[in-house]
Amino acid sequence: MTESFPALLIRDKDHPAAVSAELTRDDLPDLPVLVRVDYSSLNYKDGLSVTGKGRIARRFPMVPGIDIAGTVVESASDSFQPGDRVIATGSGLSETEWGAFSVYQRLKPEWLMKQPEGFDQRQAMAIGTAGVTAALCVNQLLAWGNLSQDGGSVLVTGAAGGVGSYAVALLAALGFHVTASTGRAETHDYLRRLGARDFIDRKTLSEAGRPLQEEHWIGAVDSVGSTTLANVLAQTVRDGAVAACGLAGGPDLPATVLPHILRAVTLIGVDSVFAPPQRREAAWRLLQNNLTPEHIDLVTAGEIDLQGLPQAAEDILAGKVRGRLIVKVA
Ligand code: NDP
Repeated sequence: MTESFPALLIRDKDHPAAVSAELTRDDLPDLPVLVRVDYSSLNYKDGLSVTGKGRIARRFPMVPGIDIAGTVVESASDSFQPGDRVIATGSGLSETEWGAFSVYQRLKPEWLMKQPEGFDQRQAMAIGTAGVTAALCVNQLLAWGNLSQDGGSVLVTGAAGGVGSYAVALLAALGFHVTASTGRAETHDYLRRLGARDFIDRKTLSEAGRPLQEEHWIGAVDSVGSTTLANVLAQTVRDGAVAACGLAGGPDLPATVLPHILRAVTLIGVDSVFAPPQRREAAWRLLQNNLTPEHIDLVTAGEIDLQGLPQAAEDILAGKVRGRLIVKVA
């Protein structure tokens, strides 16, 4: 098969990704399942890798893209047959393994799962890593935290972003009072429609504060990190828990142990990339049971193609993307 197809390629660490039409199936990694990539989506991490502003790729050339929804074309694995609709999220795609932004990709069967029932390919990618990460955070809060629907407010930071939007929707659907922290007042109506009840300006969390502050949050989902996370911990109630998954505000954590040792606050780390299969499946179940098509439509900001990715990657890093952008690949 020598027919060429478009893909986004990062040639080396000094260059941003560029669309290439030179790939053939022979160029793909020698892995058991050939998938036609129908849809993907744009995550913050894709922004970092496509622009070259974050060191995501660890080998070159690299095809970025961490979310795949596609159709199996050939399979040397008993787990998948041609025609199966499949998805993949994380699993080292874009880092050490070639990812989504290519019309065809070869993948390992253990990175793939059947498309979750109740969602079509486009919806599965509107959810993608952001939705899975939000669901992992919420499941961890439910497991570790001391949350009750009438106990107080759960905070979501970076609320108008991909992870934040789904965290708001899931927590509200579960009956929690959700406070959304956002830097964009124009997203309040959108966030209210997803279920947020109160709002705080993200500036109130981005300045360094005291190590213990007035107790506000019974739990929190944080995709911002840095001073924001330190303040969230300092404002969490006794026995509360904070699920931290992101670094949109920075990777540092200028905090003290005081919330943990004086208020028994739990800080839970969440990683979607190598989350074990049972945890991923539980995340998809939470999404299936709580998201409506209206939620997904609201969060979907639009659709782009491979050509549109370089500009969209700049936009997501500049905090200009509300919700999720779907990428039509094939
Ligand atoms: P988005 O860009 O869609 O959302 C990030 C949001 O954070 C923005 O919309 C904005 O929200 C807020 N934000 C941006 N810059 C700043 C800043 N300087 N200070 C404070 N807030 C800021 O990204 P995603 O939702 O895709 O990802 C969010 C974070 O989570 C990223 O850091 C990403 O790398 C991480 N992530 C981690 C995963 C894991 O497995 N641990 C998986 C997926 C994502 P607003 O406009 O509402 O203020």
